[in-house]
Amino acid sequence: MENNFNILSNIVKKSTPEDLCFLIFKGSLLVKRNGDVLSIPVFDEIMKLGAKYEKEFLLGKIEDKFCFAIEVSSEIKLENNFELISLYEIGPLLEEELFLVAGRANQILNWDRTHRFCGKCGSRTEDKIDEMAKVCPSCNNVMYPVICPAIIVAVIKGDKILLAHNGGFKNDMYSLIAGFVEAGEDLESTVKREVFEEVGINVKNIKYYKSSPWSFPNSLMVGFFAEYESGEIKVDGKEIVDAQWFSKENFPNIPKKFTLARKLIDKFIEKVK
Ligand SMILES: [Zn+2]
Repeated sequence: MENNFNILSNIVKKSTPEDLCFLIFKGSLLVKRNGDVLSIPVFDEIMKLGAKYEKEFLLGKIEDKFCFAIEVSSEIKLENNFELISLYEIGPLLEEELFLVAGRANQILNWDRTHRFCGKCGSRTEDKIDEMAKVCPSCNNVMYPVICPAIIVAVIKGDKILLAHNGGFKNDMYSLIAGFVEAGEDLESTVKREVFEEVGINVKNIKYYKSSPWSFPNSLMVGFFAEYESGEIKVDGKEIVDAQWFSKENFPNIPKKFTLARKLIDKFIEKVK
């Protein structure tokens, strides 16, 4: 992905009033609105809102601006043009690079919340000072943020693409087949297995396209194209409730910009022009 965000994994730095602050409260991100444009506040502004927090995490840098994540557990007073927007809805409203950093903030804070105790001996963990990790003072177990790889695949048959409606979608959206990588499995095998399990189709010529983090809470999506080989669509009825071959002239409601699903679909449209 082309962007100006750089993760700084080996820098120790405390926030200053002019650094960007990705503040999360109950799954929502604090933003500043100026008409249709949403921006991320700096620490100076956060302090004026009276936000109370225990820890801050350095996420990286956008150009020359340091970005930090904090989580607040008590209500903050929203005044003027400040708003809290759910992370599930904020994607299309932010610039892509800010959305990426907001995702990293969510992932790191979620990891912090779920790794307060050592998984090996149960003692309370401590934050490692020199890297994004936690260490157990009793048994020295070191824990890094967990990243779960998942595949997403655009299955192509001639000038048509396979799109499926997942029963868990909140609306009538159709998207690509996706699923988590199993322990001990390579990515191509995941592609074959997921497509077969969810829609009963065999695929061939699996080709990597691009990847994208999906930090809600901790995935890395790996995008592929694959060609239809054999089989008739037969949905699993559990996860996928409908799947069809669509040509670009009769698309249903598809995922929004920024998502890897949409990038794969857009690439398909470009190819069949
Ligand atoms: Zn331990």
